[in-house]
Amino acid sequence: MFSSKEKFKHTFLKRLEMLFGKSFSESTPRDHYQTLGHMIREFVSNDWITTNERYLATKNKQVYYLSIEYLLGKLLRQNLMNLGVEGIVEEGLGELGIELTGLEELEPDAGLGNGGLGRLAACFLDSLASLNLPGHGHGIRYKHGLFEQKIVDGYQVELPEQWLRSGNVWEVRKADLAVSIPFWGKVESRNENGRLVFRHLHAETVTAVPYDVPVAGFNTNTVNTLRLWNAEPAQFPFHKDVLKYKRETEAISEFLYPDDTHDEGKILRLKQQYFLVSACIQSILRSYRKQHSSLEQLHEYVCIHINDTHPVLAIPELMRILIDEEGLDWEQAWHITTNTISYTNHTTLSEALEKWPVHIFQPLLPRIYMIVEEINERFCRQLWEESPGDWERISQLAVIADHYVKMAHLAIVGSFSVNGVARLHTEILKEREMKPFFHLYPDKFNNKTNGIAYRRWLLKANPALSALITEKIGSSWTQSAHELTQLLQYQNDHTFLRQLEKIKIDNKQKLADIIYKQNGVAVDSMAIFDVQVKRLHAYKRQLLNVLHIMYLFNRIKEDSSYEMTPRVFVFGAKASPGYYYAKKIIKLINTVADKVNNDPQVGDQLKVIFLENYLVSLAEKIFPAADVSEQISTASKEASGTGNMKFMINGALTLGTLDGANVEIHELVGDDNIFLFGLTAEEVLHYYRHGGYESVEYYHLDQRIREVVDQLVNGFFPDVYNEFEPIFDSLLGENDQYFVLKDFAAYTNTQEKVGEAFRDTLGWQQKSLINIAHAGYFSSDRTIKEYAKDIWGIRPLY
Ligand SMILES: *Cc1c(COP(=O)(O)O)cnc(C)c1O
Repeated sequence: MFSSKEKFKHTFLKRLEMLFGKSFSESTPRDHYQTLGHMIREFVSNDWITTNERYLATKNKQVYYLSIEYLLGKLLRQNLMNLGVEGIVEEGLGELGIELTGLEELEPDAGLGNGGLGRLAACFLDSLASLNLPGHGHGIRYKHGLFEQKIVDGYQVELPEQWLRSGNVWEVRKADLAVSIPFWGKVESRNENGRLVFRHLHAETVTAVPYDVPVAGFNTNTVNTLRLWNAEPAQFPFHKDVLKYKRETEAISEFLYPDDTHDEGKILRLKQQYFLVSACIQSILRSYRKQHSSLEQLHEYVCIHINDTHPVLAIPELMRILIDEEGLDWEQAWHITTNTISYTNHTTLSEALEKWPVHIFQPLLPRIYMIVEEINERFCRQLWEESPGDWERISQLAVIADHYVKMAHLAIVGSFSVNGVARLHTEILKEREMKPFFHLYPDKFNNKTNGIAYRRWLLKANPALSALITEKIGSSWTQSAHELTQLLQYQNDHTFLRQLEKIKIDNKQKLADIIYKQNGVAVDSMAIFDVQVKRLHAYKRQLLNVLHIMYLFNRIKEDSSYEMTPRVFVFGAKASPGYYYAKKIIKLINTVADKVNNDPQVGDQLKVIFLENYLVSLAEKIFPAADVSEQISTASKEASGTGNMKFMINGALTLGTLDGANVEIHELVGDDNIFLFGLTAEEVLHYYRHGGYESVEYYHLDQRIREVVDQLVNGFFPDVYNEFEPIFDSLLGENDQYFVLKDFAAYTNTQEKVGEAFRDTLGWQQKSLINIAHAGYFSSDRTIKEYAKDIWGIRPLY
């Protein structure tokens, strides 16, 4: 149906009539979107079935990627691109008077994630399929993804996100593959022929129904599966209050928790976690049993990867099935489990390290808790045998301590691989945060620097740049990202650099149009577009950026002869609804924006824009239009970052600290093509351990700092008199935990260098080109190849 334009048009019109019982002239754009979606899904289903049959027939090892989040964004254009039918569809629709871009706008973003972690999972799915690797995702089909953000009066307002309102064309409900998940109840043990057997009695069961989404690889026939689980009441609920049961059951897959860095400790969250792992392990074992008679070789054919600790209950759940249902003994079950599970650590922020109070955990998951206790006891015994009497070490490393289950400890003890997500992050894990575990299990720890689905973030998001690259070096870079280094031969080619510049300005103009439409502010596409888009968090230091903008404003006001390279500062960020401080920063950005954008003396030199509701589809419009990529986290706090990579491949220059993957960006592009400033991770960690930083000193010594910090509370923003006191207090009263004032001078100086460098337009484009050329390293294809080889032991199907 996509083999020619004519065939496509014919099928499209027929399908439209069949689906909606309307003639073309009566149909709406939504009908067109749905029709096209159905056609694509039907088109992939042949390859989808074939892929599954081949996996069954070849008995190849399979990897299952478990993640509580998938930030997929829109799938229409990606599917068309990966299937190689984008051109035919775009032209065919065009002849019917339908614009493909218009249909894309109708597709809701699948926003089942908070930020980097969920987006990484989505990028990995794309690379797995594109590399023909047998890898499938499992997640939760949240009815409401991450909240929709509105800015009202400068404040963030959250609305429930509604991506399923008009259905989801990409999913297939598989009711026949539903499984039951038990909660609550109690465990009974009996002695059967000298063996203790356990039964979970009076459990409240929930039905998990899978919805499968095909994941088609780029330019290949492989179609893998993302299986999203929906929570539904069991058919015959054993429950006194059926309505209450129904409500509580459906709540499990109702909302995504809107916080990516804070462990909330809510029982519903733990329910979600067990719901996901139990459903998916039952489903994995069911397919495994179709090929194999015994579970004893499970680890040779299956790898289960947990994305952060949220799915860590996969470890006790697999133990439970092997022991209680398969009748294996503990040692055997432990051998299989610890050779099946691998784990990625995403953070060293202590507030984000999950731990669950026993009094919540035990009643909800009684049998799972028993198994975790047993894991803990055996582990502590091992520690004791190694160094008897060292109670401190035992309590520090235990899986259960002080009435809490420590999920990261469970993950390390129960898996065969622990990886960090950028080289610096892995070093910090090994040498600081998880040091005793590293000494215990040196072979488990390894690094896998994150990557991005660059076909989405460059090929699809920036078609003009992609076309220029293909014109110069051919098209094979779309499958081998490292070939982008061939662009280096053009670094002194002025014609080429001018072409790059023109593409950037065009992209900036497109973003300027969006900004005008959304914020009513006219910005000049010749100015520097200086962008910070990411979740709002104190450690990411949006505050440093705003304080610097306030300083620039003061400078312009105080010195009418001051001339700066015109700048547009763009922000996009959601704050977790309960994160009071982060919301204050959003209000501050908008308050500063109001003041700056309406000051006639400032004019076009300085504009500040907060784009509301930052999500994947908006991100795709922002990255191609950025000149400067703000990656200014307190060093040691950002595990990797992936936004930094999306900026880089679109030719933005990084202005950042030596944190996360910025370190590796710096190594690739060299000192001249990146703007680094500020404390190093080593220095930050030294201050945390030994003290020695007094933020008030910087306040008193640096007049620029004193002025902007005072302006937070002295009536400089007259309409919001007390609003920013908490920010003022965090900087001075609480000694500025994120070293904003400490790094202020270095940041300001470096920003000046950015402004100067931009004036040399060809020089700037050359730096930009060098960044693009080296960004291939950050393809998630590279990352996934490393996982496949070093951790999972899987091979391509074809
Ligand atoms: C890439 C991405 C992120 C992660 O950005 P960081 O700067 O790495 O924190 C968050 N949200 C969206 C929508 C993204 O596309």
